[in-house]
Parts: sequence; C-alpha cells; structure tokens
Amino acid sequence: MTTSHLILLIEDDIQTRRFLKSSLNHRGWQTVEADNGKTGLAMLNSENPDLVILDLGLPDMDGIAVTRRLRQLSDLPILILSARSQEQNKIMALDAGADDYLTKPFGSGELHARLQALMRRISRGIANQEIFETGQLRVDLTRRKVFVGENEVRITPIEFRLLSILIRHAGLVVTHRQLLQEVWGAEHIHDQHYLRIYLGQLRHKLEINPARPRYLLTEMGVGYRLAVDDHSSQD
Ligand code: CA
Repeated sequence: MTTSHLILLIEDDIQTRRFLKSSLNHRGWQTVEADNGKTGLAMLNSENPDLVILDLGLPDMDGIAVTRRLRQLSDLPILILSARSQEQNKIMALDAGADDYLTKPFGSGELHARLQALMRRISRGIANQEIFETGQLRVDLTRRKVFVGENEVRITPIEFRLLSILIRHAGLVVTHRQLLQEVWGAEHIHDQHYLRIYLGQLRHKLEINPARPRYLLTEMGVGYRLAVDDHSSQD
C-alpha cells in the first residue's frame, strides 16, 4: 500500500484548477490549491506537498520567479503549465529548475504521463540505477554499454554523455541549454547545432527509423525528451 501523494496546484484560472483537481483526485492523488504565487509559496511549508503544478501566468508574481523561489526552498518536482504565447517563459522556467511542462490546453492522459515520469524521480531515483530499459533499448550505465535488442551498439563518449543525461530525466524534457552546458560547458550554451548533429547520430544508431524516432524525441524549440514505456500512464 502506497500513501497518496499530495500535489500543490498554483493556478489562478478556476476552470483549469477544477479540471486538474478532478483529474488528479480521480487517480488517487490529493490536491491543495493556491490561486497566486505568494500563497503557493507559503503553502509549500504549511502543506508539505510531494509535487508542484505551477501556472506561469499568475496575477501577483512572474512564474519564473516562483520557480526560482521554489527551487531555493526545495527539491520538489515542478511541472509548469504554459499558454502557447509563453514559449520563452516556459524555456526560462525549465532552465530555472522546473522539471517539465504542459502546454494548455492539455488532456488528462498527457497530465498523467508527465506525473508518472516526475514521480519516478521521487520514488526510485533514476540517477542511481544501473540498467535503463525502454522498448528495445537497454543501457548499462555502469559498464557504459548500449544495446538495441540483442545487439550492442558502439557509441562515442559524447553520445554516451548525452544519452545518460536524457536517461537521468527519462520521460522528462531536457532543454538545449541544460544539455549543452552539461556536455560541452557554459561557453557552448548557444551551440544548438552540436545537439542536432549528435542527436542525429544517436538516432541513427538507436532508432529503427531515425526520421521517426521512438526514443529520442524532439521538443520543438525547447529541447529533447527520452520517451519511456509507461503502461500505467496510458488511458
Ligand atoms: Ca493563469
């Protein structure tokens, strides 16, 4: 028996909040709600949630500032909600420490897939696992070996670093900036062509059809996401 997780919703739009609450409660998650940034930050202490869903367009505070403050106060997973017009804010919030995002409008299937990936971060700690597996792809993180089905695939050290960062965030988006900074260093955070080249190489090695990747997904304008098989998240 697992205890029910508590999710803090910081969102001023009442309809979105109602949708989130009913969708989450239906799946057995508990929720508490705040309709502005200040109240939300205060509830972090008073309610002790396991995860935060944060709208970027709040009446009192900039969502990026809320994200920064949340990150100073805790290591909780943060899922941001953004409107299509907030593309740049979304990227800034991710770079400020948010773990993933949903673009409005979103469905409950998408919401739960994101939450599953985030909760995996809490419950198991992907960083500590030795073998990562999804579909036909198997990565031995300690021996630095990669297999597709039965076949070992030879990948370069840079490709391996990129892949292991995506594995650490399996199911979650990783921004261009995060990847560039971790693999090549801060002076290369604008060299997005590096990523296109190396992700292209990785796809050719790991994907059955590199033009229609199943594992290494592009998040247009934002970054990349390693897709995971998650049967429990399918509606
Ligand atoms: Ca809003």
